[in-house]
Amino acid sequence: MGKSENLQSAKSKVYLVGAGPGDPGLVTLRAAELIGSADAIVYDYLVDDSILGLAKSDVVLIDVGKRPSRPLPQSEVTAELIRAAKRYGNVVRLKGGDPFVFGRGAEEAEALVDEGIPFEVVPGVTSAIAVPAYAGIPVTHRGIASSFTVLTGHSRDAGPLQYDWTALARVGGTLIFLMGVAHRAEISNKLISAGMDPKSPVSAVIWGTRPDQWTVMTDLEGLAKAQINSPAVIVIGGVNRIRNEWFKTGPLVGLKVVVTRAEGVATSRIEQRLSSLGASVIAAPSIEITDPVGDGSELVDAVGHIERFDWIVFTSQNAVDRFFGALDDTRRLGTVRIAAVGTGTEAAVRAHGVGIDLVPTRAVADALVADFPSGSGSGSGSGTVLFPKGDRASGVVEEGLSAKGWLVSAIVVYRTVPSTVDVDHGLLRGAQLITFTSGTTVEGFLAKYGADLLPSVIGSIGPVTSSVIKRLGLQVGFEAKRHDLEGLCEAVVDWWNGVGAK
Ligand code: SAH
Repeated sequence: MGKSENLQSAKSKVYLVGAGPGDPGLVTLRAAELIGSADAIVYDYLVDDSILGLAKSDVVLIDVGKRPSRPLPQSEVTAELIRAAKRYGNVVRLKGGDPFVFGRGAEEAEALVDEGIPFEVVPGVTSAIAVPAYAGIPVTHRGIASSFTVLTGHSRDAGPLQYDWTALARVGGTLIFLMGVAHRAEISNKLISAGMDPKSPVSAVIWGTRPDQWTVMTDLEGLAKAQINSPAVIVIGGVNRIRNEWFKTGPLVGLKVVVTRAEGVATSRIEQRLSSLGASVIAAPSIEITDPVGDGSELVDAVGHIERFDWIVFTSQNAVDRFFGALDDTRRLGTVRIAAVGTGTEAAVRAHGVGIDLVPTRAVADALVADFPSGSGSGSGSGTVLFPKGDRASGVVEEGLSAKGWLVSAIVVYRTVPSTVDVDHGLLRGAQLITFTSGTTVEGFLAKYGADLLPSVIGSIGPVTSSVIKRLGLQVGFEAKRHDLEGLCEAVVDWWNGVGAK
């Protein structure tokens, strides 16, 4: 180590600073002052860019963000911090929320002590309390919760969480999980097994206090399969019942909407969109997508010599996902032509960087058959079509294309089964609207909850879903003009504006 570095480190000081959960308004005055005068800032993934913007223009920014795609072990983060401290004068170690709430601030402080580097701790506003608050949830409330427990949903070495679940189930008050998204099924199952009411209300608040904050309401049982992503604060307990969206803005404020989308489906997130428009979203998946019966070898075989097919026909996103999940390299598709029915299906194919040769004029199987070329004599090879499909798909595609002279290989690549999640009936009763994005979700909802728990208005994504709704003797409140998730959200806004105007 050179002499000058020694001198530098003698004057340097590290500030372990909490940056709050994201909203720059939640940065403390002391933190803002230190950020503004820092020579170097060593910061985490969850520190918002707007907060880094408070720094001097010539500040050295050192990103030690730990994110799933780029895991950085704590030892390296600490080493980076020590290096920065030795090199620069005023070093701010900036952490999301509070540095001592699952921030490993104390470990870094110890390392600084070992190195003889002076430091100071500046507490921050923790997401555990502030994020629920921004979603209108008080962590305590007289008569409902007289305590709150903050837990991490992250386990060392990715094994099961080590809690006394019986004690947790009994402690009462509010349970708040940080880093709980990946282990949400375990949290749900263990608390229920330990005796907690499966109907205990739960909220997950994602990207809290930021412009793109969104919230999903469910119950303890529903948490296991709720469609949420990190970072989220998961709040379990009665305080969710008095949740009051006083911070919400957007065209859908005041609307409680039930979303029934099938779980296990990796589509764009309608919950997220509706929530960001101001609605309270109650996630009630009514169906689940699971593996087909059997060992899946049919699909593997077909994919194994995919070049022998002339066409692949997709009529659902799930089929697209399953097919591409089995294909190791899209280049193997070569000259195989592709047909896709429905905007969502089309988008799912394109997301794999693969073009589409045929999109029928209308997004229904009949139209595909009508628009499909004739099999005899046309196309190369033997005139074969691969049709990966769900177990509930009608026979329209196979029959229609066979009649046109094609040899159709229909393979069931997924099954639709009723969801095991049974969302709190009180939540469903409180909603003004339910949206359906497919006929199967309508049937699934009715089978599970019955017509009594249907909110008074039904919003449908398009004519195919609407026809199922009507066939089941129900009324379609409104239908989207564009038959995709974005179109459905627009229709919800139009409808809600109309309701408000009355
Ligand atoms: N020291 C931080 C917590 C670090 S652990 C604090 O006091 O807030 C990281 C976890 O915090 C995330 O996985 C998430 O559960 C939670 N978190 C932090 N900021 C958040 C935000 N803006 N919205 C939702 N969750 C957040």
